[in-house]
Amino acid sequence: MRTPEAKSSEHKTYLGRVLCLLFLTVMVTGNMFAFQHGQYDLLLRGGHVVDPKSGISAVRDLAIRNGVIAALQDHIDPSSALKTVDVSGLYITPGLVDIHVHVYASTGERDSYAGDNGVFPDGFTFRSGVTTVADAGSSGYRNFEDFKQHIIDRSKTRVLAFLNIVGAGMRGPKYEDNLSDMEPKPAAELAKRYAGVIVGIKTAHYSGPEWTPVEHAVEAGTLANIPVMVDFGANRPERPIQILLTEKLRPGDIYTHCYSGLRDELLPDGQLNPGMWAGRKRGVISDVGHGGGSFAWRVVIPAIHQGFLPDSISTDLHIGSMNAGMKDMLNLMSKFLALGLSVDDIIARSTWNPAREIHHPELGNLSVGSPADVSVLRLRDGQFGFTDMYGARLEGKQKLECEMTVKNGKIVYDLNGISRPDWNTLPHDYTSIGDPRWDALNPASKKP
Ligand SMILES: [Zn+2]
Repeated sequence: MRTPEAKSSEHKTYLGRVLCLLFLTVMVTGNMFAFQHGQYDLLLRGGHVVDPKSGISAVRDLAIRNGVIAALQDHIDPSSALKTVDVSGLYITPGLVDIHVHVYASTGERDSYAGDNGVFPDGFTFRSGVTTVADAGSSGYRNFEDFKQHIIDRSKTRVLAFLNIVGAGMRGPKYEDNLSDMEPKPAAELAKRYAGVIVGIKTAHYSGPEWTPVEHAVEAGTLANIPVMVDFGANRPERPIQILLTEKLRPGDIYTHCYSGLRDELLPDGQLNPGMWAGRKRGVISDVGHGGGSFAWRVVIPAIHQGFLPDSISTDLHIGSMNAGMKDMLNLMSKFLALGLSVDDIIARSTWNPAREIHHPELGNLSVGSPADVSVLRLRDGQFGFTDMYGARLEGKQKLECEMTVKNGKIVYDLNGISRPDWNTLPHDYTSIGDPRWDALNPASKKP
């Protein structure tokens, strides 16, 4: 027979078990509730999403978690996100991908694209909705590691690079015309060592009659299995553009400065050089590369009227182009609005197309699981003017402007503070109130 003490102890054990179970149930459901609340870090609500990869161009909600796109749906409950931003009336696009910039600004070398002619990327990218850039050959295999150490590794912008076939990089004619410093093997070896960061080989500014720079660039590109980008330098009868596009370059190689008009892209009769069409048919890419001297209305407009659109829109950003006709990525994209292209079309040529050209198909799109690089753009109506390389003006009635930029899931630029609370709703002694899970600008050091 059990003693009352034993009964009582059994009873206590039973009660303990029930309480324990109850506690566990509360914990589990509580956690589920908490998980529901913190399911997403950042939710962009009600924007017009343009995602060329999926073909979506419609009002959607976009949710981000842990730096990647977590959901893109008609409606996402705001209570499921830590931070919600109302972006109605604005375009939501993949972070812009600009594959022709010069950002090796740290060397102190005068009048050099491996120096003073370059710009520091973070000062020029996020404010234009750009999250990824590819430096177009400012460095070669001899100085790429210095470029990586001083710029690539220190920038918040995702900086990739075309490696110049010239070992010394883009430092003026003395270097860029030196045929003995264009070695395919060391360039290819370095490209393989930094695969994914070095996305291509560049040849540029060559003034001589030889094909050597192009041939060696293609050899390096073939060895490293990456594309070549060509700035075709001086126009020489010994190496005509149609031979470049139909014989020398491989499908997937990139002809930048495609609207410069400096190398017979447009013939004197106003017709596009048939070599441009033949190159396109073979899969050679045509890229804008506006820069300071590669975008003339008298070339662009006939080319577009004849149906020759650019595969990718890139700026050739440097210290000269940014203050002249080019200015920035969105100004350049707006030039194509003025020429009658649609927003969706322009976005495709500034995101998904260039991402694939540099073999980074995880970028330039808003698929679930992709890095959460997002641009929030406003399409403004008004009277605008767009100038070309010669200072000629074209009038436009619309312009794209960057409202907000998100890189790897965190807000890195917010023009009008649309992600921010009104100051007088905050405690009188407020300090930084952002959360580091969505905010790269004002994250509070400690969460409240
Ligand atoms: Zn350039």
